[in-house]
Amino acid sequence: MTELKLGLVGFGKIARDQHLPALERNPSMELCAIASPSSTQDALPQFQSMEAMLDAMPELQAVALCVPPAVRYQLASEALARGLHVLLEKPPGATLHEVELLSRQAEAAGVTLFATWHSRFAPAVGPAREWLTGRTVRHVDVHWKEDVRVWHPGQDWIWEPGGMGVFDPGINGLSIVTAVLDHPFVLRDARLHVPENCQTPIAADLVFQAGGDTEMHAAFDFRQTGPQLWDIHVHTDDGKLTLSAGGSQMWVDGELIFEAPEREYEGIYERFAALVADNRSDVDVTPLRLVSDAFLLGRREHVDAFIE
Ligand code: NAP
Repeated sequence: MTELKLGLVGFGKIARDQHLPALERNPSMELCAIASPSSTQDALPQFQSMEAMLDAMPELQAVALCVPPAVRYQLASEALARGLHVLLEKPPGATLHEVELLSRQAEAAGVTLFATWHSRFAPAVGPAREWLTGRTVRHVDVHWKEDVRVWHPGQDWIWEPGGMGVFDPGINGLSIVTAVLDHPFVLRDARLHVPENCQTPIAADLVFQAGGDTEMHAAFDFRQTGPQLWDIHVHTDDGKLTLSAGGSQMWVDGELIFEAPEREYEGIYERFAALVADNRSDVDVTPLRLVSDAFLLGRREHVDAFIE
């Protein structure tokens, strides 16, 4: 099997925790270099910018962009312009328009663009979709509540425009819902709780409608201490399905039906390799569209300043 020569761009928390080990285990990927302004590591050639990396290593065929969303468009566009395949961390961009432009650019260049949603690769997502097929959904509740100080230490970009605040994790919950249900959820109401010293919400309460009586409520909160919640409850006319622990477990009416070890990033790189081999792209902006609508329609309510 020919390995795809890949450069990692942005060597922060997710690149170290997930991309690096997943790439090590994937026989169809060869991680050749890293570009990040100030992070350091010893094992691979390292550059302070993607441009310097691509100039020095013309043999690279793909990049994985693990940078914050606000800086992603320029990097992705530059990589596509040089004929590289591009993997985007979630969310795929800071705006919908950016992602649409990248999609068109990738198509014109004949290269692969993969907008990843890692939570969709959680093990119980497929079984949940199967279980829900043919059942009538009455109500969906999403609880995505985590302690920002534990999971995003020192990530000041989250609080800046384009950083999305609590939607940075919340969009993962929405990426699962929109993968297991085909319902056309439309935002009806959004309350965004914005710390007085930040540009983005620390918590959000959303109400969506999906035709008829089907409603979805989503509660995102970065101020969660104690047990962390990444749960989705789907109430149907034939029982209640719960996806918990970010999509690792599936429960039906309180009984654990399915559980498997997490291997989201292994799944992501397997899919990337398959897309490149088939000369296809995969860019679904549905979760970003829902978040974008929350920023368009949401009522802002100021809350206490956030001090890390
Ligand atoms: P992070 O720890 O702040 O890392 C971001 C990295 O991007 C930093 O290492 C930074 O470089 C680098 N960077 C910034 N601008 C750059 C540029 N122009 N060129 C190259 N590198 C640049 O953030 P993260 O948690 O890894 O998150 C990154 C993305 O992954 C976000 O979109 C996030 O939603 C997504 N994600 C995060 C998690 C998670 O659990 N943290 C999970 C899944 C997905 P230096 O440090 O070198 O200055």
